[in-house]
Amino acid sequence: MNMPAFMNGAKKLLIGGEWIEAQSGERIDAINPATGDVMCQIARGGTGDVDRAVAAARHAFEGEWSRWTPHQRRKLILKVHDVLLDNFDELALIETLDMGAPLARTRAFREWTSQVIQFYASHTDAATTEAAPNSLPGNFMTLKRKAPVGVVGGIIPWNGPLMGQWWIFGPTLATGCTAVIKPAEDASLSVLRTAELLLEAGVPEGVINVVTGYGRDAGQALAEHMDVDRVAFTGSYVTAQSIIRASAGNIKRVQLELGGKSPDIVFADADLDKAVPGAAMGVYTNSGQVCVAGTRIFVQRPIHEEFVARMRDFTRTIRVGNGLAPDTQLGPLISQRQLDRVMNYVEIGGREGARLASGGTRLGGELASGFFVEPTIFAGVSNDMTIAREEIFGPVASIIPFDDMEEAIRLANDTSFGLAGGVWTRDLSTAHKVSDAIDAGTVWVNCYGVLDPAVGFGGYKMSGYGWKGSREHVDSFLYPKAIYMNLD
Ligand code: NAD
Repeated sequence: MNMPAFMNGAKKLLIGGEWIEAQSGERIDAINPATGDVMCQIARGGTGDVDRAVAAARHAFEGEWSRWTPHQRRKLILKVHDVLLDNFDELALIETLDMGAPLARTRAFREWTSQVIQFYASHTDAATTEAAPNSLPGNFMTLKRKAPVGVVGGIIPWNGPLMGQWWIFGPTLATGCTAVIKPAEDASLSVLRTAELLLEAGVPEGVINVVTGYGRDAGQALAEHMDVDRVAFTGSYVTAQSIIRASAGNIKRVQLELGGKSPDIVFADADLDKAVPGAAMGVYTNSGQVCVAGTRIFVQRPIHEEFVARMRDFTRTIRVGNGLAPDTQLGPLISQRQLDRVMNYVEIGGREGARLASGGTRLGGELASGFFVEPTIFAGVSNDMTIAREEIFGPVASIIPFDDMEEAIRLANDTSFGLAGGVWTRDLSTAHKVSDAIDAGTVWVNCYGVLDPAVGFGGYKMSGYGWKGSREHVDSFLYPKAIYMNLD
């Protein structure tokens, strides 16, 4: 397979429409997680670079861009859509090389990306001005405006930047805000290539800026910056806690999409032909590096053993390998650090008494130099074990038996997270009652992981706050403003 020319040479920061080196001149290796090879280097941006990028974003926000009409922004977003789709095979390949997901998955984002960009293109009229009724004595006219919030700092994780960046770029372009995005140090390449394409499509300089680098310097500087009006963060709750503290300086608005330990409940009446692969891939998709992964699979006791056996059989059919191979279904984990973390949880699971029903080892042979783990099943797990409480972010499923609906709901909600959940049943009443009772931002019934950008998603409890997708998301890039006019 031909490697994209983009992969050659060190990558720079995008600030004010120019590609420039980090002030420090330092760089970070971009490692292919399937092979462990260094592919190229990205710039290690720091505080000074973030300062420059935020200044460029502010300048753009207050300049010509602020006078663009909704129609102009819509046309621009649709142009971006076309340029991106024309180059999507290359973008998908870059994503596969950089973060490991199979080409079958990254290419499939083409349709999704198209839908998301078109969704935001259809909301460029969100910054409205409306006459509001008022009860004031005298002759007043009152206007209510929704005005763009300003400079947005976007901080995203490594598990799917090709997709994740659109939750920042989409509403930024739709509302007339500007953005500085800080991709994850482990996977920045698809964001950098997308940024090149945004410029090519005509996004004005300074509207979108990209500062690569580590979270503790570039990310922290962005979260603390006194001239950033809103931070949109996706990542772990520990980093989110630091971001909330960092946001206090100028009381910036914060949106947080964090992790989960989502329950997926399989009742005895479920159609197991659907529930087994559905629940299994609800954990294993993207090698388990998915925020909504349904990692706690609650199975009603009468079908528990059958479910474990069928899930084990299914799991053994999954092809794990280099994402460039056309038949690969699961790629590697992102890094050695993530591999160590996942293997540590596998060890803890065994030590705490969970039964290893499948997997549990790092893959060797021709995959030995990459960060590959077999899809893993622990059975006979209890909800208070470490593997059922902490987010592993790897292909590790915990199967937990339950007796009745009340117990399933109680155990499902016995977690500090609230991102998502699933229910598998043929009974309508069970489906309604349980989906209503699960404390989470999204619940799937007889399916798992589907997402419509027009509906959106968000977290509850320690899975964060704010909503991505839907009109609500666009509105969160605006702030409300009242204007009273005395006409006498
Ligand atoms: P992370 O929190 O370590 O890193 C996420 C981003 O934050 C990276 O860009 C990182 O460089 C940056 N960062 C790190 N420390 C920072 C700091 N002190 N200040 C500012 N920025 C900082 O998370 P991760 O390990 O890269 O990603 C995995 C986590 O992300 C999981 O918990 C997962 O569930 C979550 N996630 C959530 C969603 C969602 O939409 N809810 C989607 C994907 C991933």
